[in-house]
Parts: sequence; structure tokens; C-alpha cells
Amino acid sequence: MSDTLRVLWTLVPQRAPQPWLHCSRCGDPKPFESSNKFRLNANGKRLDAWLIYHCTACGQTWNRPFLERRPAAAVDPQLLAALQQNDPRLARHLAFDIEDLRRRTVRIAACGGAKVQKVTLQVPARPTARLEIGFALAIPVSLRLDRLLAAELGLSRKHLHRMQDEGKLVISPTGARRLKKPPQDGWQLALDLSQERDCDAIAAAAR
Ligand SMILES: [Zn+2]
Repeated sequence: MSDTLRVLWTLVPQRAPQPWLHCSRCGDPKPFESSNKFRLNANGKRLDAWLIYHCTACGQTWNRPFLERRPAAAVDPQLLAALQQNDPRLARHLAFDIEDLRRRTVRIAACGGAKVQKVTLQVPARPTARLEIGFALAIPVSLRLDRLLAAELGLSRKHLHRMQDEGKLVISPTGARRLKKPPQDGWQLALDLSQERDCDAIAAAAR
């Protein structure tokens, strides 16, 4: 029987990604923040809609295209009402649509804090001796892995680094200074808990 607890941690950023764009007022590239407000323009039978962003340094506006020259008759009345009312759910949905954002800018500021959604994939039959954590991220976060693990597992960062030095904490794919970097989608972490006194508490915190 396996003594491994396997979990999947999905990191959901609290703040929408911020595109870096050239700001004409600052004269430099700056991160822009969604205002969660839409701008609508009806031109004859065509409709344009944008999500309004502001430069975080000076407030300059960037209109992120949402509907472009769309025949007004083809726009769902519910969608039109949502745009007119600055529906917060629609604004949030678009602000978090990073695939669309990537088509408009090459640089996107990673998000700070993230909520961790934990799903258990395999429960050990015996007391947990090994913990495997998979990471899933649709949107990059700027949160160091050691800080995240310390907060979620109740271990000190010093302890985590010592475990890594002793080969009891392995991150794949391998790379330099992984613990000090933000976790990426698809990363796997394996922890040998067999020598840990708080083994049960760590395993409980992981799921
Ligand atoms: Zn600016």
C-alpha cells in the first residue's frame, strides 16, 4: 500500500493580471490596472466595447478591445445590458482572460496574493510518509514557493530549505533556486515526511 499523499494545488490570483504597456503620458512602459468599467460606442449599426484600464503611475487610460465593429443586432441583449451596467462579473472575467491579454502585450505583471484550492488525488493507506504536491496555475503569481509552502504547511522557510539540502524536498522539473521562485504551472513537489515529527499536521494542512 502507498504511504504517499498526493494533492493538487490550484493557485487563483486575488488580483487581475496587469498588462505592461507604453504609457504616452509617463513616456515609459507601465503596468495598467483594470477599472472594471466598460466603454461602449455605437456607430451606426456597429458596436464597439472596451474594458477601461488605467496606468498605475499616472492614471492614463488604455481601452482594451472587447467587441470590435460588431453588428449591433448580433450582440446578445444580456451581454449589452451587462456592458451598460458595468457588470462586475463580466469585467472580472475579461480582466482575468490572460490568453486574450497576451495577444495585446508581451509583458504581463504577475499577480501578488493567491488563494490555494486544494484537491486530494490520493489518500495514503498508512500514515503519510511522503507528500506530493502538483501545482496548477492559469495565471502567473509573484509568490515565492518557500513563502507559499511555509504559510500553507506550517513549516518555517529555514526548515524547508534544510529539507531541500538533505534531499527530502525535491522540485521537478529541477532548476536553480526553485524554492525562491514563484511556482509554475505543472511543477511537482515531493516531500519526505518520514522523519518529520509533525508529519500528520503537515499532511492535514496539505489537503
Ligand atoms: Zn502613465
